[in-house]
Amino acid sequence: MRRGIGVSLLVLVVVLLGGASLLEARQLQVVTTFSILQDFVQQVGGEQVVVRSLVPLGADPHTWEPSPREAGLIARADLVVANGGGFDDWLLPVVQSAARTGVGVLRVAEDLPVLEGAGHEHAADPHLWLSVPNAVSYVERIAQALQELRPESAAYFAQRADAYIQRLHLLDEKLQSELGQIPAENRVIVAYHNAFSYLAERYGFAAVDFLVDNPEAEPNPRDLGRLVDLLRGMERPVVFTEPQLNAGSRYMRALAQEVGAEVFTLYSDSLTAEVPTYVDLMEYNLQVLVEALR
Ligand SMILES: [Zn+2]
Repeated sequence: MRRGIGVSLLVLVVVLLGGASLLEARQLQVVTTFSILQDFVQQVGGEQVVVRSLVPLGADPHTWEPSPREAGLIARADLVVANGGGFDDWLLPVVQSAARTGVGVLRVAEDLPVLEGAGHEHAADPHLWLSVPNAVSYVERIAQALQELRPESAAYFAQRADAYIQRLHLLDEKLQSELGQIPAENRVIVAYHNAFSYLAERYGFAAVDFLVDNPEAEPNPRDLGRLVDLLRGMERPVVFTEPQLNAGSRYMRALAQEVGAEVFTLYSDSLTAEVPTYVDLMEYNLQVLVEALR
């Protein structure tokens, strides 16, 4: 009997020690507002992080309604990563009510140079990631936050971030050289919402126009009229739908029918099974833009 208790104690001590070392080695729990940031954190964090996106693949981050699931994820998070710039403001009340004290919220777009969209009264475009140099800034900020959270793994995060940023530089060069071959008169992006001003500025598009500032808004007749005029003035009118915006895509298809425009699809706000990473998303957009506007 005495011997049995001794063995049990030994087992208990081993279990406790094992538990402690497991706890030390446990993965950082990171929550991002949307899937593109999830990919960035996963690229830098590797096997040291578990990253979850509040907005699932293929859904619209602008109009997302947080639920108890989101609060539960945030309650267990070591770090929350958001875009900022008005893109994912719905996050703030959830963080305030659910996050553990002291959990940081990193807003990766904060203080980066902001572009206004084209043509009319509107809010600034928050889709900074569609210009690759901005994505590089996001990744650098994520790497710094992970290093601060777990300094003993700083070299691991730095090495992964450097390798990923090398890929992003190659992607940026490819976009510049291939989009640079689109004829100047075709360098116009007409889309449903104000998402493409950074892509346009970085890769030399002459104009971007859109129906609504963000998908929460309803299109108005004046903006619709402006797009009709713009498209009728183009030799080969093209409009772009975005897969996560169902109602918006219906407007764009109706508009295209009205003016005889072709319809293509661009990704802006969300990864999907078809474009599971940021690099895939940008490569997809590159192919579509070359095909649509050549
Ligand atoms: Zn958007």
